[in-house]
Amino acid sequence: MECALYVVATPIGNLRDISLRALDVLASAGAVAAEDTRNTLHLLNHYGLAANRLLALHRHNERDAAEKIVALLAQGLPVAMVSDAGTPAISDPGALVVEAVRAAGHRVIPVPGANAAVAALSASGLPAPHFLFYGFLPGKPSARRRELQALAALPYTLVFYEAPHRILECVSDLREIFGGERQIALARELTKMFEHIHRCALAEATDWLNSDPDNRRGEFVLLVSGETARHEELAEETARILALLLKELPLKQAVHLAAEISGAGKNELYRRALEIKGRE
Ligand code: SAM
Repeated sequence: MECALYVVATPIGNLRDISLRALDVLASAGAVAAEDTRNTLHLLNHYGLAANRLLALHRHNERDAAEKIVALLAQGLPVAMVSDAGTPAISDPGALVVEAVRAAGHRVIPVPGANAAVAALSASGLPAPHFLFYGFLPGKPSARRRELQALAALPYTLVFYEAPHRILECVSDLREIFGGERQIALARELTKMFEHIHRCALAEATDWLNSDPDNRRGEFVLLVSGETARHEELAEETARILALLLKELPLKQAVHLAAEISGAGKNELYRRALEIKGRE
């Protein structure tokens, strides 16, 4: 096994969601840096892996842990890094360690696997050619609202992590700031016994959460569809400009000018111009 830091994804619920490669790495690493050693012990025991090489790595000791890990690598010992659940460094500790290890000149090798955001997105049915992973919003209402305001016009599916005790106030802010018409998917307890993914308009989400206390329990990923109205408006205006130019100019020139005026992409404008010409 190459001497490197292995960033190992672990399950977000169902213990079978772990790769064969992750198990190989956890079995062979000289040390396993873990966010919650009890939790990782449970995982190692479940797979019959030796559990005597654990090293604590959490938000409050990340710098010290980074130094220890760099020292182990300098001795030629490969180190595996895991978080409590899912992929380390994604809304979890790990980035600081990776930075320190890279700065010390050692290799960092990702061992990919479970991630709550991607799992939720994949089963939400919300369009995801582009999505923005935001992670946790601030707990303070004023800061949360400010950050949501900054996201309100983005045309991408937005992905948030949220704690159950804040789910109601967060969904209420999402509705207030994004409007009731946008779609939300509330992905709860993914890969666990009470897994549930509920899709509705933002206007209906609070009623759904209030309709049963179980709907507010467990771990959540919230996904909100991107803002589209603004884009359609823009597209409409661009199409209007293009149509007017096409009446007066040859196609190539009309496309060129429409792109200059609107800032829209030439390929898309060219396609639209052919459509308009085809209808004439
Ligand atoms: N590193 C993890 C990952 O790759 O997804 C995320 C860790 S973050 C500290 C924990 C948050 O992820 C939870 O508060 C919740 O929003 C989300 N999460 C983790 N496991 C989940 C699950 N099984 N179902 C739904 N959300 C989950």
